[in-house]
Amino acid sequence: MKPFSYERAASPAEAAAAAARRPGARFIAGGTNLLDLMKLQIEVPSHLIDVNGLALDTIEPTPEGGLRVGALVSNTALAADPRVRRDYALLTRALLAGASGQLRNKATTAGNLLQRTRCPYFYDTAQPCNKRRPGSGCAAIGGFTRQLGVIGTSDACIATHPSDMAVALRALDAVVETVQADGATRTIPMADFHRLPGETPHIETALQPGELITAVVLPRPLGGRHIYRKVRDRASYAFALVSVGAVVQPDGTGRVALGGVAHKPWRVEEAETELPRGARAVTERLLAGARPTRDNAFKVTLVERTLGSVLAEARG
Ligand SMILES: Cc1cc2nc3c(=O)[nH]c(=O)nc-3n(C[C@H](O)[C@H](O)[C@H](O)COP(=O)(O)OP(=O)(O)OC[C@H]3O[C@@H](n4cnc5c(N)ncnc54)[C@H](O)[C@@H]3O)c2cc1C
Ligand code: SF4
Repeated sequence: MKPFSYERAASPAEAAAAAARRPGARFIAGGTNLLDLMKLQIEVPSHLIDVNGLALDTIEPTPEGGLRVGALVSNTALAADPRVRRDYALLTRALLAGASGQLRNKATTAGNLLQRTRCPYFYDTAQPCNKRRPGSGCAAIGGFTRQLGVIGTSDACIATHPSDMAVALRALDAVVETVQADGATRTIPMADFHRLPGETPHIETALQPGELITAVVLPRPLGGRHIYRKVRDRASYAFALVSVGAVVQPDGTGRVALGGVAHKPWRVEEAETELPRGARAVTERLLAGARPTRDNAFKVTLVERTLGSVLAEARG
């Protein structure tokens, strides 16, 4: 491991200002992703800003009838919150489908959104990877691509975003709240938070350097049936090959977001108008323009079948 300095931030604004002063700095929350990457020297921060002392670990009601989830609320606490279980069951189910109990106890809401891809070539520092080293190339293209993306990919990167929680937040239209280095705050809709890879796959989100996530806001509850179905190679402790997060209303309308297929949680609102016509019609619109590889073309069929089973469950 490379040497680095460490400080505990005293307030969110100070944390953001400190990060902006030190270009090689990173925030550390639960550390369950960042420390693994530091051990492999994929992330080599010169300075760590520990945000765990910031009072960002509560879940509060909003005046609009939703919930504000502090950036440091653990995945376990968020999944277990009675209000979340009752009104945002999709989020509870997605969280519980991720990682393990021990990891969820440490993992935070902000850290989960910002976890890095699980593309195997990203972790192999002997291989070219535009995300790890911009401009070096992409070993995955033409390599082993079973786990990788089928839509929204580029000639520079075909990785997927690994978070289960983010799929639920996208379907629920959550909003990310942040503070910037100058103390200004802003909100970023989940739809715009994660980026497609394009020519710059190392820039993964809409965050500016040093910008700190302070909370994630859930809008008013949607009602309906909330289902999260994750298909993976092992029954636990594995990332999604494909996941489907859905909120389905009694009249058959609803929302659908996918995990395991793109560089961001994948949702196409127009495709949701096809929900009453069934899984095939929705999948055709959701995955229009998909560019699967020989290894992962099965994901297109898997999306349709997983969505079909989700819709059958929603119909009872
Ligand atoms: C073996 C294993 C299996 C896993 N399986 C799954 C799975 O199936 N599904 C799934 O979704 N996840 C899975 N995970 C990932 C896990 O959910 C993440 O590691 C965790 O959510 C990261 O949260 P953290 O608080 O530990 O983040 P950290 O490791 O502390 O930080 C991650 C990133 O977020 C940044 N950061 C942290 N807080 C803030 C903030 N407030 N503002 C701005 N930046 C911030 C850090 O600088 C860092 O870049 C798995 C992890 C492991 C190790
Ligand atoms: S797909 Fe993306 S993360 Fe994987 S090797 Fe290529 S550039 Fe790197």
